[in-house]
Amino acid sequence: MDGRVSIVGCENYAPETVEQAMDALFAPLDALSWVKPGMKIAVKANLVVAHGPEKAATPHPEVVCALCRRLTERGAEVIVGDSPGGPYRKPFLDAVYRATGMTQVTRTGARLNEDFGETEVRVPEGKVLPSFWCCDYLLKADAIIDLCKLKTHALMGYTGACKNMFGAITGTHKTEFHYRFPTHEAFASMLVDLCGFLKPRLSICDGVLAMEGNGPSYGDPRHVGVLLASFNPHALDLLAADLIGLGKDGVPTLAEAADRGLIPENARALSLFGDPEPFRVPDFKLQPPVDIRFWGLRSEWFHRLAKGMLVTRPKPDKTCVGCGKCVIGCPAKAITMVSGRPKIERNKCISCFCCGEFCPKGAMKAYEPFVGRLTRGKRTNGK
Ligand code: SF4
Ligand code: SF4
Repeated sequence: MDGRVSIVGCENYAPETVEQAMDALFAPLDALSWVKPGMKIAVKANLVVAHGPEKAATPHPEVVCALCRRLTERGAEVIVGDSPGGPYRKPFLDAVYRATGMTQVTRTGARLNEDFGETEVRVPEGKVLPSFWCCDYLLKADAIIDLCKLKTHALMGYTGACKNMFGAITGTHKTEFHYRFPTHEAFASMLVDLCGFLKPRLSICDGVLAMEGNGPSYGDPRHVGVLLASFNPHALDLLAADLIGLGKDGVPTLAEAADRGLIPENARALSLFGDPEPFRVPDFKLQPPVDIRFWGLRSEWFHRLAKGMLVTRPKPDKTCVGCGKCVIGCPAKAITMVSGRPKIERNKCISCFCCGEFCPKGAMKAYEPFVGRLTRGKRTNGK
């Protein structure tokens, strides 16, 4: 287990500030020593939604550019890409690249991914994941760099390096995974399998402007002023989550990674380069937990009752414009439009929050029923 994580302050996204911070971030790890001339490197950035960098949903272009510049200077061939929810097609991705500012990476000699091929791959060492449809640009690379953002996530509590690998699965194939892995634990186990298959050589987290509240797409930007890097994506996640008050009890991917011996039980046991204390945000607004552990119960009546009373579920707020995009994004076919408003069939809903990721207005919020709030408490880092 490699528990080394580098952490440095980065006050803002001014180019010179980011450049200095990235040098300081990489130095103690000698983070790019493995990069050789001619190597094909895919930077898998979290481009979850076509939002500008000020919304804090995606890594800032200055961070992506600073990374790409260091790679191209070492003679690597660099491709930046992702497959967000929606069609894995050029017009869709071009809109995402433009909105997120990713087009700027071409100034560094890097390219944006335009290969929208996909291949079904087997995962021989997968604990729960036997195979998946993977983006070809990742399969063709000699190495993958995982470039994530520090954000809350409705289903997983926090999204960082491990969850970022979900975007290796092409387009709408992703939605069916919520059905195939319907519990927290199963979904997290699948993500850890995926991350283990793709083996990112380096993981980097942009936490300069993080996202709190209704993440991962429509939360509120929150200045944390930090960059993190590690060769171990789960170690990076353990420290990043700890900064915002989360640990393995509140983040199922961390619990799964700890169970598999990929990380220690808590962030205190990591080997840190840099001081995390200045970057702790004790009042970071978290998503309510989504408890779906009782789903295996046989009594349909009890199942319905408990689900209605306990399970955090999506609910459209008044900013809904009735566009119907959530209907398309729902893998459980739980949403119908009634009088121009989305109506969610509670018993069909699997609380995957794909609807929230498809909603262009951020209108689909995580609603935690009163009894669930009383009985469950908050997500926590166990301290
Ligand atoms: S309504 Fe939303 S949260 Fe429920 S299954 Fe559909 S997409 Fe998932
Ligand atoms: S996608 Fe959002 S705005 Fe559109 S109908 Fe659904 S909740 Fe309303």
